[in-house]
Amino acid sequence: MDRRKLDVKKVIAVANQKGGVGKTTLSINLSVSLAEEGKKVLLIDLDPQGNSTSGLGVAKNAERTAYDVLIRALPLDQARATTSYENLSVLPANMNLAGAAIEIAGMDFREFLLKKAIDPVRDQYDFILMDTPPSLGLLTVNAFVAADQILIPMQCEFFALEGITQLIKVYESIKNFANPSLEILGVVLSMVDFRMRLTEAVVSEIKSHFNGKVLETIIPRNIRLAEAPSFGKPIQQYAPESKGAHAIKDLARELLYGIEINNEETSATIEKADIENVTIRGDYEESSIGPGPVSVNSNGESTAGADNADRGIITDIVSESISN
Ligand code: ATP
Ligand code: MG
Repeated sequence: MDRRKLDVKKVIAVANQKGGVGKTTLSINLSVSLAEEGKKVLLIDLDPQGNSTSGLGVAKNAERTAYDVLIRALPLDQARATTSYENLSVLPANMNLAGAAIEIAGMDFREFLLKKAIDPVRDQYDFILMDTPPSLGLLTVNAFVAADQILIPMQCEFFALEGITQLIKVYESIKNFANPSLEILGVVLSMVDFRMRLTEAVVSEIKSHFNGKVLETIIPRNIRLAEAPSFGKPIQQYAPESKGAHAIKDLARELLYGIEINNEETSATIEKADIENVTIRGDYEESSIGPGPVSVNSNGESTAGADNADRGIITDIVSESISN
């Protein structure tokens, strides 16, 4: 057994433009677990749905929100809200932010607005997490420009890798044009249910696609994780003994302290792996899970390659917006 420790940086964008893959669930509960480990944490809600805000029990109708920080250059420390955890604050969001995405488009340095807002408070935190919306628009671009690293939750379902080429391309163009030190921290497998035959095939497909970048801790499909937000509580308060709560805690500890791994597994290479491997071996159309003619045989193995339906129109828009 070896111990593997990731090089985790301070500002982390939780992103995947696919909807409903667990970004918000991860953002809320990982923030809380990091806070419970004694870290000072800020969670920035960048999604007009405001689910990270309400999920932490913070009112969405707050007078000052992420909108004011981005559009009116309100200092972040005047907009952040407290939570029931002393060392966890949240920058709330609500539907106003949907308008911000449009208003930002006409502003100077529109990709750098969030970075500018974070810089003055950066030293006050051990971690700053950003929950992003299910798109690769300007809000997510702002998150990538401000971030040190990107954490990608992936739902273990049949189309898990759909859209990943676009995400990686946006990451690469932002790295090239705006934020050279941006890295992919890793992929978190979420809503995993090993009772489903397909799950193992999907997990191994994601692992081979992300060559060494998949975190060891897996977030299971757990009903308590789904219920908690409707009580305005993180899982650690709503159901601290649930499997979901334990998994999130393990994930926080993996990020902070590393994890024991069986060195026969591919993950032993993670420290050397970098994202180039993803793009070189990962050209998505070679993947067997994704859009196109994919089928699964009676052993639950996927048998056919996907076609090339996943090329980056959005990326072109994003890179155009960056180079303008
Ligand atoms: P969006 O793209 O809309 O912002 P998201 O990626 O933030 O979505 P979540 O809101 O975290 O995804 O999760 C989508 C749904 O799945 C929610 O109803 C959530 O409660 C539920 N969910 C998330 N993770 C789990 C899990 N591990 N087990 C069971 N349900 C989950
Ligand atoms: Mg969300």
